[in-house]
Amino acid sequence: MGVVLIERTERLEGYLAIRELALDLRWSWSHASDVLWRELDSQTWEATRNPWGVLRTVSYDRLDNLLSTPQFAGKLEELLAEKRVAELAPAWFQHAHPTAPLSTIAYFSMEFMLSEALPIYSGGLGNVAGDQLKAASDLGIPVVGVGLLYAQGYFRQMIGPDGNQEALYPVNEPDQLPIQPVRTSSGEWLRLQIDLPGCTLWLRTWEVQVGRTKLYLLDMNDPANPAIYRCITSELYGGGPETRLKQEMILGIGGWQLLRALGIDPQVCHLNEGHAAFAALERARCFQVDHNVPFAEALAITRAGNIFTTHTAVKAGFDRFAPDLMKKYFGAYAENHLGIGIDELLALGRQDAADAREPFNMAYLAIRTSGAVNGVSALHGVVSRSLFQPLFPRWPTPEVPIGHVTNGIHVPTWDSIEADRLWTDVCGKDRWRGDLSTLEVDIRETSDRQLWRLRRISRQALCEEVRSQYLRQRVEDGEIEGGEDDADSVFDPNALTLGFARRFATYKRPALLLQDPQRLTRILTSTERPVQLILAGKAHPQDQEGQELIRLWNNFAKRPELRSRLIFLRDYNMRQAEWLTQGADVWINTPRRPWEASGTSGMKILANGGLNLSELDGWWQEAYAPDIGWALGDGKEHGDDPDIDAMEADALYRFLEEEIIPEFYDRDQDSIPSKWVGRIRESMARLAPRFSANRTVREYTENFYLPAAQGYAARIETVGDASRGIARWKEQLSKFWPKVRFGATSVEETKEGPSFSVEVYLGGLSPDMVKVELYADGEAGLPSHIEAMQRQRGGPVTTGLYRYTARIFSGRPVSEFTPRVVPYHPLARGPLELPNIIWQR
Ligand SMILES: *Cc1c(COP(=O)(O)O)cnc(C)c1O
Repeated sequence: MGVVLIERTERLEGYLAIRELALDLRWSWSHASDVLWRELDSQTWEATRNPWGVLRTVSYDRLDNLLSTPQFAGKLEELLAEKRVAELAPAWFQHAHPTAPLSTIAYFSMEFMLSEALPIYSGGLGNVAGDQLKAASDLGIPVVGVGLLYAQGYFRQMIGPDGNQEALYPVNEPDQLPIQPVRTSSGEWLRLQIDLPGCTLWLRTWEVQVGRTKLYLLDMNDPANPAIYRCITSELYGGGPETRLKQEMILGIGGWQLLRALGIDPQVCHLNEGHAAFAALERARCFQVDHNVPFAEALAITRAGNIFTTHTAVKAGFDRFAPDLMKKYFGAYAENHLGIGIDELLALGRQDAADAREPFNMAYLAIRTSGAVNGVSALHGVVSRSLFQPLFPRWPTPEVPIGHVTNGIHVPTWDSIEADRLWTDVCGKDRWRGDLSTLEVDIRETSDRQLWRLRRISRQALCEEVRSQYLRQRVEDGEIEGGEDDADSVFDPNALTLGFARRFATYKRPALLLQDPQRLTRILTSTERPVQLILAGKAHPQDQEGQELIRLWNNFAKRPELRSRLIFLRDYNMRQAEWLTQGADVWINTPRRPWEASGTSGMKILANGGLNLSELDGWWQEAYAPDIGWALGDGKEHGDDPDIDAMEADALYRFLEEEIIPEFYDRDQDSIPSKWVGRIRESMARLAPRFSANRTVREYTENFYLPAAQGYAARIETVGDASRGIARWKEQLSKFWPKVRFGATSVEETKEGPSFSVEVYLGGLSPDMVKVELYADGEAGLPSHIEAMQRQRGGPVTTGLYRYTARIFSGRPVSEFTPRVVPYHPLARGPLELPNIIWQR
């Protein structure tokens, strides 16, 4: 009896251990546990790469058997021990900021791309969210993610016989996904209630373990809900505006409620794109309840802890809702919960508060409820400052309060096993967990031979994947039977391999490479210097133009002479993206500048030794150098001018014909293209660390999260002391601002330079509430000149009238300077919180 019991207990421990490993998405970047899943059920594993799915499928007997095998059990034990150590060990954040008053950052996003085993993403936005969550885990930054669990996710792609895209919606079985219901301490499934017009509905809650961070998901497919409501969270980016509005309510309001139910009180709330902005309202509402303050004060305090990252480069990209729709869903919320009128709420999402027809813009809401705003590349920062300029009337565009943090990718997720091995040899095992400062120098130590070997192995692996998908697609098309195999004759592991895969949105110009089909065919069909092209991408089911481009490529790919040189891979997804970005020699990207806010797929190839050929847009604008890659375009915006498209297509072909192909095939005595390999080395050394999510989340932490946590803490101190509060300051300023005006101005030339003197009438405002400055525009690429003016001692000249003086040493002519008055509060952030400004002329 005793022995049986011990054995059973051991099995149970083994079972719990393997369950724990299968539910931790660490396996999506650390491949240490792959052997276990392969051993359990290699077929399911190869088809899904989903450890939890494997565990749910495998028979008890098989599992029992393996758990009693010393080798399997030993490996399991070792991996579990490693996981436990990794979870508890202090990481970068604990070392760099040991006393930081920052215990939780809540990261809200409509999509997360973590693994193909959890398909709740569409593309780049989800990629950024997923990769940052993983990097936060590596670095020990206390982030929790909040998102939605979609019953079907984003649509899946099939290509019909005429080359047209067809949309499919297979179901995500929650049972097979690596997620678990959130349980209360009594073991009950945590369900939340949310009010929609006329009914109260259940939200189900789920958790995903992502290394040391957690992602919480919400869905409405609760059988206790009426059927029509259960579909609200079925599709990502599906349905009309009303569905989208409901999804965003669930994400923002339900998401914040979920954190509250779990007892999580984040100091910082990161809104990944405007979709999530209702979280800021709900956060303020909760503060209002907890501290018994009015909405305006609650928002003024909590917004200091909110960060908004915008990802759009054009107005059309903003989420906007009709006023009537907003009234339907938010009328009661505004009045009964926030204690404000719906018009006041609508004003938060409008450029012009008084325009009753203006739709409600989620990005505007996010700006009005955040303490810091950023774009996702340096260029996108510039573009965003123009885009949001109308919210800051009369402010110079460079002063529009939007910064940038350039995106990066989670290298351990995207590097191949081979690349991982090379980097480990040269830079050590923990290289993506520190501050990366030594990587550039270390990776330069790699030899030509090592790098070229990496490329050969990676390209070979890609070829094998492409061949097997090629066979699957031929079977789908009924061209061959299941058992036939002619794939050996297609794709050459030694040929220059070009990759192009991304959403087929028109601004990405997916057909630029196809402008001259004859020329492209010539390039691809050379027998002497063979080139192959692998394409993939989906167009939104409502995007007709994007789908037309997919049809174009698929029909072009049918040309018999291209059969072994060109393939359009169906149903672009994360797994394909992994092997494509690991195997491609050159990654092509042709967006219409400046529409690509950042772009991330090109970053994925860096650590794998691929090279970029891309339009100077998004991240490439700041990454490009002539010795590491190729740049299209002249670094200027040209709209959708067809002549420019033709010119850039020509440049694209010329790069291929005159530089890329010759350089790739220019081999030394060891058959290595040494100039090419030199580019790879520099691209790896200079770009891979810089465009990693490690660098990105460290930047968010130091430049955004820590200051936000401090700002929020400082504002909480003002509760109950209205005179220090920002809400009252805003109220006072708004009341007296119309009275503020300039009086007499004079300039006196002195030996040290001109001396300005201005009089400003402040009405009932205290002079502590404003700043008076001299401003001159930036010139020739230099920043603008802003000189603070000093208030003359001894009080006002007459009631409400103050004199300010400043001396200018810059040597710039007097005529270039203009005095201005702007609001000031020691805790408030520039024009973001109060965009008033008065110029003297
Ligand atoms: C990386 C990735 C994207 C984003 O690619 P971009 O070129 O930045 O648009 C989209 N989809 C998938 C599946 C990806 O892996």
